[in-house]
Parts: sequence; structure tokens; C-alpha cells
Amino acid sequence: MEKFKELGLEEKILKGIEDLGFETPSPVQEKVIPVILGEENDLVALAQTGTGKTAAFGLPLIQKLDTSLNEIQVLILSPTRELCVQIGKDLQNYAKYRPDIQVLCVYGGTEIRKQIRELEKGVHVLVATPGRLCDLIKRQAVNIDHVRSVVLDEADEMLNMGFKEDLNFILEETPDSRNTYLFSATMPKEVERIARNYLHNAKEISTGKKNQGADTVSHVYYQVRAKDCYETLHRVIDCAPDMYAIIFVRTKMDAREIVRKLQKDGIECDALHGDLSQAQRDEVMERFRAKRLKVLVATDVAARGLDVDNLTHVINFNLPEDVESYTHRSGRTGRAGREGVSVAIINSKEKGKLHRIEKILKKQFQYLEVPAGEAVCRAQLLYYADKIMAAEPKETLDKYQQELFEKFEALTKEELIQKIVSYEFGKLLKKYASVEDLNLSEDERRGGKGKEGRRSDRREESSNEFTTFSVNVGKEDGFTPRDLMSIINENAPRKGLEIGSIRIFETNTKFEVDIRGLNGFMSCFRNVSFNGLPFTLTEVKDRYSRERGTDRGRGRDFGGGRRNATANNKWRKSESGGRARFSEKKKDVGGKKRRK
Ligand code: ADP
Ligand code: MG
Repeated sequence: MEKFKELGLEEKILKGIEDLGFETPSPVQEKVIPVILGEENDLVALAQTGTGKTAAFGLPLIQKLDTSLNEIQVLILSPTRELCVQIGKDLQNYAKYRPDIQVLCVYGGTEIRKQIRELEKGVHVLVATPGRLCDLIKRQAVNIDHVRSVVLDEADEMLNMGFKEDLNFILEETPDSRNTYLFSATMPKEVERIARNYLHNAKEISTGKKNQGADTVSHVYYQVRAKDCYETLHRVIDCAPDMYAIIFVRTKMDAREIVRKLQKDGIECDALHGDLSQAQRDEVMERFRAKRLKVLVATDVAARGLDVDNLTHVINFNLPEDVESYTHRSGRTGRAGREGVSVAIINSKEKGKLHRIEKILKKQFQYLEVPAGEAVCRAQLLYYADKIMAAEPKETLDKYQQELFEKFEALTKEELIQKIVSYEFGKLLKKYASVEDLNLSEDERRGGKGKEGRRSDRREESSNEFTTFSVNVGKEDGFTPRDLMSIINENAPRKGLEIGSIRIFETNTKFEVDIRGLNGFMSCFRNVSFNGLPFTLTEVKDRYSRERGTDRGRGRDFGGGRRNATANNKWRKSESGGRARFSEKKKDVGGKKRRK
């Protein structure tokens, strides 16, 4: 506590965080708190997830409030509802001994009228998602004219999610005299642009190297055939009986499919993705937090910023395209100084991606063999034995124990153990008595049989080729390019997918997609709807190079030649590789049979 005190925090707030078990400030907190408490500086803070950013800005900002004034003085913007709620809760905890401080969270997906009523009661700190705050501003239901401090939390993610325009709008609505504090795990160009445009005289601080994951996380990987990825996942889970993990997948389709399989295999799990209603999300998160779910299967966006402590593992069922996403994923474990494991399950195609991540992270992934059946059983049995040994006999057992003793009288200790274990683990022992060895030979791992690898390489090279899709919603449905982008961001299997022109017509919308991102693209929209209208996605054109697309009027030479039919077929074939395992059955799209 001494150290927190030295940073300039007052008694009542110190007491609040003492109750939370905070003892010493984290590096970010040490650097940020004095800046916010002190001179009127703006701030850009680059720090990984789990480093304690919320308290870094939260503590000094609530201390600086003037609660004799009934106006919003602090505005905190954050990308998702979950994060908002989390920040709100954290602030309320910090202010436990300052009942005069009013904190309110506003976010989309719930009734706006209730939030308007809450706003009318008077608020000092408003925590908001950009979209909902814009709505509120436009309805003149919120007054941010007296805001003195604006926090942009997870700025990179807010921009990733397409909130750029909203952010600009909001920042323009706040007084010029405000201070702005920007927090981000990564510093892509768009974040730098926001910082340049809206921050003045900003101090820059960063903790740890850029893009470096937390040090308490070890990174391991399993390399198997694409068709064995699920079985590997299943074994990895079975082999860690105390696992409490998030499994990251690319699309909500993948999330659903994996949950379905894991549940069938008796593992308590559920999915978290953008298609759930708020009530459903809350319900899933509640069960996960209460540890009634062992694993949560989530898409990146849905799980962004979730503050779940004690995760033992983060599992990358697919490696993300970019290192930033990987950093965010692995940053979910190893929080607050605890140890965590970030697991990647990859096929030979993904080896290159793994190396790229290693290079930027400056961390080595440790190769692990997929556990054999025996290892899984041993892990489960010993865990069970430890649990039994740790159990304290309950007094209420007294009444029955004599009868129980008599029942088992004839058995030796060894026989009793055998019986109990067989009863408890019969199914598991049987299942794992003879399972296939999923490990690849060393040669296979090095890509000696890199058929899949070569195919994917070819696709990496062949960029600048676009194809056009059409969806069955348009102007009449109130569909905007932003809706399209957010649907794509949420669902597309590949992050940073390049989208060419978007043309919105009365009843449909046409848009171009870089063919590099097409793997699994269509399947991801199968269960998507817009305002209740199920999306029907049709590919309207064969692939062409941008050179040919002069009617799109970009005037840029994108190079590359038009693909002929053979090349096209090749592409089709390659699409049936890696990811196809978890997609649904064949589906007729626009009259063409698409092989999946
Ligand atoms: P970030 O926003 O950087 O991802 P959070 O602010 O959500 O991280 O903090 C991560 C976790 O660490 C939270 O559970 C928080 O309560 C805890 N924490 C933060 N600061 C401290 C501290 N000084 N001492 C102990 N725990 C802390
Ligand atoms: Mg945070």
C-alpha cells in the first residue's frame, strides 16, 4: 500500500483497493497514475492485456472528480459491453468508500430508455461503448459538455470493430480543454492517427516491449494433421483435469461446432460469439465465471477484454492471422502474475504462421507431443486421487458410516480402489485403452510432406485478386457499409480481410473480397442475419484480377492475371483442405455446388 500512497492516492481510495487485495502497483499503474493526477498531460499508454490498465486510469480519475458538481466529468470508451460492465464494476470497487461518486455504464443491446433515465439521475463517470454513446448524443440524452477526461480503452480494438467514425464524432463533441488518455495493447497506424488528431502534448509510456506477451505465459504447440485437430483438442483437455480455459476459434460456426462436439464428449463448455443475445452472453459468462463451464469456446471479438481470472490455458484452435490477435488471446491467461499456458493446435499449413508469431513475440513455442491414451488416463486418475486425499470427512457422515463400512468389509483396500476407479472412470479407461497416435513423424512435421503447405503458399502469393459477392439486404433494409464491415469483422475466418468496393442497392448489396481471405468465408454467413433477415450470400462473379476490374474505377494497377477456369478449380480444391472439418454439409449457393 505504501507504494500506492506514494503515487498520490488518497486514503479512501487506498482503502477501496486494499479490500480488493492490491498491494503494490503494477508497472503501468506506477507510470500512469502520477501522469493523470499531475500536470494536464494527455497520454498514450501501450501495455499488454492483464497489466492492470483499468486501475491505472480508474484510480486517479475518480480521485480527481469534483462530486459537488453534478455533471459527467470522466468519459471512458471501451469496445464491448462486457468490458464496459467490467470497468464499471472495477470503478465501483475502487470507490467503495466514496459513496458520493456516481458511475454509469451505457452500451448497446439493451433498452436505451432505461439508460436515459439513469443518466438523468446524475453521473460523474460514464463508461460507454462508442455506438451507444453516439445514439445517446444524437438523442440529446447525454451531456458531455463538461467532460474533463476521456479514456479510450482498448483503442486498437475499438478501431478494429469499426468504431472510427463514432470515435471521431464523440471526441468532436467533448470540450477541447479535455485531457485524453489512450490505452492500447498495440499501436497500428489508425491508433496513431487518432492519437495525432485528438491528443495534445501526449506523454507516451509503454511497459514491456511492443507486442510482447506476458512473461508468465508459456507458449506450446501441437502439430497434427488437419483432420486430427479436434481429437487433439479433446485429448489436451482430458489430459488437464483442472483446466479452466478459453478456446479461440475464428468463426462462430467453428465455435458452435466445437461446442457441440465437446459437449457430446462430456466436457462442460459453451460458446461465446457475436450472434448471442445479451441475455445469452450474460448467462454463458455467468456459468463460466462460476466455473460451471470448464472451457469457453469464443471468437476473438466476443472474448476481447474479458477479465476472467485464473485461466489455466488459452487454446488457439486456429492460429490467428496476426500477431496482435495472438497477443490478445494469450494475454487472457497468465494474468496478475499467475502462470498460464497458451496452446496452439496447428496443422502443417500453419507452421509458417507460428514462426512469424515467434519472431515478433521473440518467444519460442515449445513443441509437445499429443498425449497418448495412457497419459490422459494417468492424469485423470492422479487428479482424482489428489482430490480424494484433500477431502475432509464430513461430520454428517457419522450416521451412515457404520453401514457403509459393513458393505465394503469383504474388500481389501486395493480391491476397493479398483472398484471405485472402475466405476468412476470405466468409460474413460475404455475409450483411451487404444487410441491412435496422432503425432506426425519428424519429417512430416518439417513439412517434408508439405502438400498442404505448398498449396497454401501458392494462395498467399496470389493476391490482388478479388471476387464479388452479393447479399440479399440493401438500402430498404437500412443496411450500411458499416453493418457489412462489422458483420465481416465478426464472422470472417480471416482478420484484416481485404474488402474492395461495396455497392448498396435497394434490395441487395454487392461487395468485393480479396480471394486470399476466402477460405471458409461463405460458410461463416450461414447463420447470420441482419434485422431478423437471414443473410443469403452468393458469389456473383468468377474471380478476376483487379487489373480487369476497370469499371471499379480505382485506376490502380493491381497486377496479376485473370484466373482461368483451371486455376479456379484448383482453388476450389484447396478450399477443401484444413478448415473444412468443421463446416456444415454441402450447400447450394447461387445455383453453384460449392465444395466444402
Ligand atoms: P488490463 O485492462 O490491462 O487488461 P485489468 O485492469 O483488467 O488489465 O487487470 C487485470 C487483473 O489484474 C484484474 O483482475 C485486476 O483486478 C488485477 N490487478 C490490477 N492491478 C493490480 C494490482 N496492483 N495488484 C493486484 N492485482 C491487480
Ligand atoms: Mg482492460
